[in-house]
Amino acid sequence: DAMEEVRIATLLHNTYTLLQSEANLKGIEIELRLPGFDPLLTANANRLKQVLINLARNAMEAMCEGGGLLTLILEETAEGVCLHVQDTGPGITPDHLARIFNPFYTTKNTGTGLGLSISKKIIEEHNGTLQVATEPGKGTTFYIHLPR
Ligand code: ADP
Ligand code: MG
Repeated sequence: DAMEEVRIATLLHNTYTLLQSEANLKGIEIELRLPGFDPLLTANANRLKQVLINLARNAMEAMCEGGGLLTLILEETAEGVCLHVQDTGPGITPDHLARIFNPFYTTKNTGTGLGLSISKKIIEEHNGTLQVATEPGKGTTFYIHLPR
C-alpha cells in the first residue's frame, strides 16, 4: 500500500465497474468519460480508489430519491489530470458547503462525516487538490486535480 505507477483511466474504469451494481439498485445511471489514452501517475492506487468511491457514494446517497446521473470524467490538464465526480442531486446550500470538509460533519442519520475530510487529506498527500462546485437544485461536482 504505497506509491506506485498508476494507469489513471484504468483505475477510473475499475471504479466505474465496481459501482455499477450499486447504482443500478438505486435507479442511478453512471456515465464514464475517458480520454483516448491512459495517463500514468505516481500515486497510491488503493487510496485514490477509496477517494473515488467516497465521492461516488456521497453522490449516490444525495440522489437516492428519484434516481439521477453520476458522471465520472477524466481530463488531462497542464499539470497532470483532473477527475470529476458529478451528480444531478439536490446540491449543497452555502451554509452546509462551508462545513462539508470538516471531520465529523454529516447531514445523514448514520453518516460518519469522515469521507470528505479523509478524501481531502489523501489528495493533498498526492500534492493535489479536492474542490467542489455546487448549484442547489441542479447538482454537485467534485474535482480532483493531480499533478504528474
Ligand atoms: P458522510 O457521507 O458520512 O455524511 P462525508 O464527509 O462523506 O460524510 O460528507 C459530508 C456531508 O457533505 C454529507 O453528509 C452531505 O451533507 C454533504 N455532501 C457530500 N457530498 C455530497 C453530494 N454529492 N451532494 C450533496 N451533499 C453532499
Ligand atoms: Mg460520505
